[in-house]
Parts: sequence; C-alpha cells; structure tokens
Amino acid sequence: MQNNDHIILGGKPVAASVKEGLKARISALAEKGVTPGLTVVLVGEHPASQSYVRSKERQSAKLGFKSEVLRLTAETSEAEVLNTVSRLNEDRSVHGILVQLPLPKHIDSQKVIESIHPDKDVDGFHPVSMGKLVLGLDGFVPCTPAGIVEMIKYYNLETKGKHLVVVGRSNIVGKPMANLMLQKKEHANCTVTLCHTATPNMSEFTRQADILVVAAGVAEYVTADMVKEGVIVIDVGINRVEDASSEKGYRIVGDVDYVNVAKKSAAITPVPGGVGLMTVAMLLSNTVKSAENSLN
Ligand code: NAD
Repeated sequence: MQNNDHIILGGKPVAASVKEGLKARISALAEKGVTPGLTVVLVGEHPASQSYVRSKERQSAKLGFKSEVLRLTAETSEAEVLNTVSRLNEDRSVHGILVQLPLPKHIDSQKVIESIHPDKDVDGFHPVSMGKLVLGLDGFVPCTPAGIVEMIKYYNLETKGKHLVVVGRSNIVGKPMANLMLQKKEHANCTVTLCHTATPNMSEFTRQADILVVAAGVAEYVTADMVKEGVIVIDVGINRVEDASSEKGYRIVGDVDYVNVAKKSAAITPVPGGVGLMTVAMLLSNTVKSAENSLN
C-alpha cells in the first residue's frame, strides 16, 4: 500500500526555534559581560567549506556573537595551524574553536582536532567529547547528530524501543548518531543497528528500520524497495548531481531517492531544507553552552 500522507520534516522551523531559544541565554550572558565568541579556522579554498564558513559567519553575527574567521592559505604548515589553535585555546574571548574540515592533505586532521581544548570543542570531535557522548555524559555533541535529535524533539517523534538503523559510520555523523540514540534517555532509547560499506545485504537491515538515518554520502542510495511502509527517514546526505535543466548545471540531492521513498514513509526529511539547516544552529548552541560553562 502506498502512503502519500507522509509528514515532511523540514529543518527551517526547527533551526529557527533553536536560535530563538538561544536569545534569552545570550542576553543573560551579556548581563554578565560575556559575548559568545566563535572562531573558525579555514585552511585553503575548498569551495563547499567556503560556503559553510560564510553561513556560520553570517548566522553567528546575526545573534550578536563575536565571530571571526581566520583564513589561512592552502600551503599553511601543520605547525602553523597547531600554533593558531594553541593561541585560540589561550584567548578568553574565544569560547568555540572550529577548524573547518577537510584540511589539506599535508595536515593531520586528527592531530589538529586533538589540539583544540576540550572546553572549546564546539564541533564535538575531540576524543574527550566523543568519550562523554558514548558514556552519556554532558558534553559537546557533534552538530549534525545533535541537530537530528532536535528535529526528533520538535516533531515529537516516538523513539523509545524503536529500531533505528544508521547507514554510515563516519566520526562526524554515523558513529555519534548511533551512540546518541542508544542512550537510555528521552528522545533516544532505540535499538540501534549501524550499517557500513562491509554490511552484506544492506536492504535486509534497512527494511527493518522504524527510523532510518542515512549518512553514506552516495546520491539517492536508499531506494523504495529498501524501506518498509511507515518508516521515518532522516536523510543526512548532501550530494551534487549533474542536471542540465538547472541554471547551475547541478542540483542537490540526498542519500535517499526522496520521491519514491517518501511514498512509503510516515515522515521524511527533505534535501535540501532538512538536516542541513540544523548544523549551524547547533554550532551556535554549542558555542553559547561553552560561553555559559566559562562562567563556572
Ligand atoms: P563520510 O564519507 O565520512 O562517511 C560515509 C560513511 O558511509 C562511511 O562510513 C562509509 O562506510 C559509509 N558508506 C559509504 N558508502 C556506502 C555504501 N554504499 N553502503 C554502506 N555504507 C556506505 O561521510 P559523512 O561525513 O558522514 O557524510 C555523509 C553524507 O552526509 C555526505 O553526503 C555529506 O555531505 C553529508 N553531510 C551533511 C551534513 C549536514 O549538515 N546535513 C553534515 C555532514 C555531512
């Protein structure tokens, strides 16, 4: 049976609600003489990174942050990047440090991530943040999975006891997502299965999903035959595919064949306009949290 009554889980109202919720906290900080400070370090000229960084800059300025982008050339040495992070670690006006990934190949990303002070790790990629997440302790949660949890809360999606299947095991999306959703907490408490490139018979797993989170980075990878009726689909993918009919020559699609999968879904996130809108909102949220922590 086809279900055409699916709910579209747009990210726009959720991101707006997160940012609205930050305003009172930012005012409370201002009364104590604190302005949230976020510094983004961008090395090189990766086009997608440039556009992400502009969005971070614009949105943090809009909320009255002290926001700064340090643009370093692609030839910058690893030592210089580490020195920059070390200087920002010492700067009391900086509450959040984000080194935009991917970094040029001659720089060890993990080394750079580990050089950020865990108290300023607003991306949530530091091993200390990841460790806290796995243990269910309060800390900085990576922005994209944190944004998905906000969407789950906003749309009041039932998660307890549901089978949540994640496709993709990256450190920034798949792994933290799986770990968040298995916690014995509200808006989590799922039975979690994590699938990846070595998973045989992928459909066997995805068809069992009550909630399916797809972060594989493969355009329209999940097709209608891979899901069951009534599934809730969270599509994290952002992929450019050629499209001669579009002015730009390409269009953005997710990791899910949206048109056909939507017909079987109870609810589904669109791409664009879904999860992608949440990431920066959660970065701002983590930065406000860090500024608040700095008062303790
Ligand atoms: P990644 O390439 O680091 O990881 C992808 C993971 O998917 C890998 O662990 C790999 O094992 C798995 N995978 C790849 N192909 C697969 C296949 N055919 N079958 C099963 N598993 C497969 O990617 P990422 O950083 O996790 O990002 C995933 C997608 O999400 C990308 O499209 C990316 O652009 C997008 N993304 C969106 C946001 C956002 O703000 N919405 C944030 C981060 C990433």
